[in-house]
Amino acid sequence: MSCWIDDELDGYRRGELYRRRRRPWPAGGGRLRLAGRLLVNFSANDYLGLANDPRLARAAAHAARRYGCGATASPLVSGYSPPLRRLEADLAQWQATESALVFSSGYAANLAILSALADRPDAIFSDELNHASLIDGCRLSRASIHVYRHADVQHLHELLRQTSARRRFIVTDAVFSMEGDWAPLPDLLRLAREFDALLVVDEAHATGLYGATGRGLCEELGVSDAERLVKIGTLSKALGTQGGFVCGRWALIDWLVNRARPYIFSTALAPPVAAAARRAVHLAREEPERRRKALALADGLRQRLLERGWPPSRSRSPIVPVVIGEARAAVRLSERLQTAGLLVPAIRPPSVPAGTARLRISVSAAHAEEDIERLAAALGTPADALSGTGGSSSHGHCG
Ligand SMILES: *Cc1c(COP(=O)(O)O)cnc(C)c1O
Repeated sequence: MSCWIDDELDGYRRGELYRRRRRPWPAGGGRLRLAGRLLVNFSANDYLGLANDPRLARAAAHAARRYGCGATASPLVSGYSPPLRRLEADLAQWQATESALVFSSGYAANLAILSALADRPDAIFSDELNHASLIDGCRLSRASIHVYRHADVQHLHELLRQTSARRRFIVTDAVFSMEGDWAPLPDLLRLAREFDALLVVDEAHATGLYGATGRGLCEELGVSDAERLVKIGTLSKALGTQGGFVCGRWALIDWLVNRARPYIFSTALAPPVAAAARRAVHLAREEPERRRKALALADGLRQRLLERGWPPSRSRSPIVPVVIGEARAAVRLSERLQTAGLLVPAIRPPSVPAGTARLRISVSAAHAEEDIERLAAALGTPADALSGTGGSSSHGHCG
């Protein structure tokens, strides 16, 4: 009946595009156990090393005993628990916005925000390397979608000049998830003002990492505008827990509560997760040495790769891409690193454009300087890396 599914999957396997899930056990200290081996984990988005922090676990356990493990209903019905309300209040205070709204994931937040703000008569201007959740949000909105070349302010300007849409939205990742580079946020805000557009910035890989108080890249670059700026963040990366959030004016949050279907028709974030995320927000603020360490380790890794002859990347974040080219070669190299005790995912199309399969190294404050040295030594020079014999291709790989 559905044998086409088997045929298509066989095609994925032949092209090294087949994905399977690993079965990791977290081990702390930026490590995990996989198939009985202890590996240094360069695949996690746990940039501040908070995911396994016992203080988060205590906050979650306390909330579970007091409020239960599930929110049991949509936030509009009876799921808006005390831990969730406190989390939103603290997020708004941290982000210096009037209000904040928490979703069950960053993915849901992006679907919700774009589909609730934009509609058929509107135009969305979207960076070509934006995260899949922003792309899906654009589609769900039914607005016309104009994709501009990556971080290309000139191209965006041309596209904005040609539009006669009712309302305009400029949508971008702050830090791009596969390149680790920054969006030109001050220029994007300038264009938003010039063309009367809203600027929607997804700080998923920037929350907790940049700015004097760790708010994100907007803070780092001095980009603020209560009227025009919609900031999205995730609790699932640097903050080590789960969920997404949006910050902005009261009216914006009110609009989303009334209109955003992924918010209205989904169970609220569970109380233990909300309590743990709130603790993580406090720790991100109180322990700035975590973000300094993650960024310094990533700088050190980029420096070591340059010295070994790897081409410079645009990365300015704990995401360090090493572009290999063909999916097969990237997978082989990832497997060879795993044999050396290092878990570095190979990212293949369609997550990245064809011919740019890569290793995506995620550095964390949980890592030590020696971990970075070990990784650089194991990668060696580009010639070493690509001539490696590698193991079988039958093991799990992700991305
Ligand atoms: C990971 C990510 C998301 C999704 O966040 P989740 O909380 O994991 O659902 C959204 N946007 C960007 C840019 C991301 O990297």
